[in-house]
Order: sequence, then C-alpha cells, then structure tokens
Amino acid sequence: MSEVDLRPDEDLRTTDDGDHERFAHVVVPASAVTEAYITGAAVTALCGKTWVPTRDPGRYPVCPTCKEILDLARASREG
Ligand SMILES: [Zn+2]
Repeated sequence: MSEVDLRPDEDLRTTDDGDHERFAHVVVPASAVTEAYITGAAVTALCGKTWVPTRDPGRYPVCPTCKEILDLARASREG
C-alpha cells in the first residue's frame, strides 16, 4: 500500500542572501563601500554582515544592529 509520500518540503530557503537588500548597513569607513562598488569586493558592516554592495541602499532603513553599534561607538568616543 503506497500512500502519498508526505516528505517535508525543504523549501525553507534562508533569506541570508537577500537580507542586506532590506537594510542599509553601516560600514566604516564609508569609503570602503564606494571602493567595493568599483572593485566588487565584499564589505563587512558593523553588525558583521558581509556582502558585495551592488546598489545604493539609501532607500532602505538603517540596519538596527548597525545603528546600535554605531551609537555605542559614538557614545564611547564622546566619553
Ligand atoms: Zn547591519
């Protein structure tokens, strides 16, 4: 008796590849992003996200994790 094989569909693809498309991550120095546009090199954001910037993320909200780290860095610098 062969019933329908109910195998769980492994279609839960992670959104890791598209995550950076939804947030504007903060990279220090900012010039590294400009350079990456030209060289096609990957950059690492403050939150640890590494990706190859291909477009201006200006229309996306700033990554909350990046913002938090940036705020902390600024606060500690101001003493
Ligand atoms: Zn980020």
